[in-house]
Amino acid sequence: MLLPSTFTDLIREFMRLPGVGPKTSERLVFSLLRRKKEDIHAFARALFIFSESVNLCAECFHFTDKNVGDCAICRDSRRERTILCVISDSLDLIALESAGYRGLYHVIGGVINPLKNMHLKDLRVAELITRLKRSFDSSAPVQEIILGFDPNYEGELTASALRRELNGLPIKITRLARGLPQGGDLDYADEITLKEAIRGRREF
Ligand SMILES: [Zn+2]
Repeated sequence: MLLPSTFTDLIREFMRLPGVGPKTSERLVFSLLRRKKEDIHAFARALFIFSESVNLCAECFHFTDKNVGDCAICRDSRRERTILCVISDSLDLIALESAGYRGLYHVIGGVINPLKNMHLKDLRVAELITRLKRSFDSSAPVQEIILGFDPNYEGELTASALRRELNGLPIKITRLARGLPQGGDLDYADEITLKEAIRGRREF
């Protein structure tokens, strides 16, 4: 071993982050070494607080602060409450927000991917249906569901399966318009393309 295990352990941890290979990871660890001890402690503290305080919204499953219950979006009375966009994870929410979407969300927790052993039953479908049914008895029932999945094979698979699950409910089901880069990620689409995709959404 060229480096002590305290180094290699940290290098291994950084390598678990997306897009970080061994070289980048080594560089990150060595850059930390050049920082003041207080800076490293502040970094470690921020990571610890992050891991301890992030919670999921009881309504839409977007991230929220611990002990708050619903997230800022669900609590915001100015949002359009009759439109609900189903997305795979919160990264897509950030992309849709910057494209000007102002309805509600349901973070379903992934997409169907048989190769990764992810199936419909692993997604928050039951929670979605319960939420929809509850909304039908409220003053602002959900009228439209936008299936906001990535324009790739897994996204298509998930949208079709969800379409079947929602069959029979009194709602319009739409999909983001074509024009998003095929095979790409929603959160990589530029704002204008995404805005167009929301505006031009079609019944599914
Ligand atoms: Zn929420």
